[in-house]
Amino acid sequence: DIRIGVLALQGDVCEHLAALAEVGTEPVAVRRPEELDSVDGLVLPGGESTTMVKLAHRFGLLEPLRQRLTEGLPAFGTCAGMILLADRVLDGIAGQETLGGIDMTVRRNAFGRQVDSFEGPVEVEGLDGSVHGVFIRAPWVESVGPGVEVLARFGEARDMESAVGRIVAVRQGPLLATSFHPEVGTDTRLHRYFVDRLVQRT
Ligand code: GLN
Repeated sequence: DIRIGVLALQGDVCEHLAALAEVGTEPVAVRRPEELDSVDGLVLPGGESTTMVKLAHRFGLLEPLRQRLTEGLPAFGTCAGMILLADRVLDGIAGQETLGGIDMTVRRNAFGRQVDSFEGPVEVEGLDGSVHGVFIRAPWVESVGPGVEVLARFGEARDMESAVGRIVAVRQGPLLATSFHPEVGTDTRLHRYFVDRLVQRT
């Protein structure tokens, strides 16, 4: 069985656990460092990135998480989870820490300055047909390094001219991140993508 952890300190943990079960893996809520040892992949959920880092620090998880990612643990970050996987953050709190791993700069609450939350279709490279993107105070990716593959850009925008073309899904090696929340709703294709293409290939 493939065991996929979900960082369960804060955020939409249940939705990810359900989606991971749906795609045939054994989901594991991760709150303690030992729980990290047995997983083949890890999901970093949506929620509040600063709170998650604070709690990870308090639970003694911050360094073990960084260690496992450095060792090549496949990970999938959604929204706040995307921020956690970013090497650099704009508009964060002063000195905002992340786990890092993806050579990208994300802008926190980037869409939120225009409209707090919205939904719309997103074309993702490698998937047939668009996915339904749920954006909630979402970050966008401001820039990426040469090793990062852009999987999706924001297409539609009503009153959001500056958002058109912004990167909203990326992959670097075993790391996947989306600005939006694929765990909300019933479309599990991105979880399947993560498990089939990033976890099982390692
Ligand atoms: N705005 C949140 C943050 O900066 C992310 C929002 C979300 O995950 N829905 O962490």
